[in-house]
Amino acid sequence: MRIDGSFVADAERHGLRYTCKDCGHFLAARSACAHEWPVDQHLLPPMLKNGEGRIVFCKEFELE
Ligand code: SF4
Repeated sequence: MRIDGSFVADAERHGLRYTCKDCGHFLAARSACAHEWPVDQHLLPPMLKNGEGRIVFCKEFELE
């Protein structure tokens, strides 16, 4: 999904958590997913370039 700065601002304002590090399936010691999904696209919040970016949500995210 394409995003811009308003997504980042809204996420911070509302405390939106959506990355692997906030997911109950994340194995911090291995920096890996307990369900063996690749974590590279949603391990951290997306970085914007020229005010735009891309975000990938995991359908198995489960708030810790
Ligand atoms: S289920 Fe998805 S969000 Fe959770 S740790 Fe695995 S890859 Fe990350």
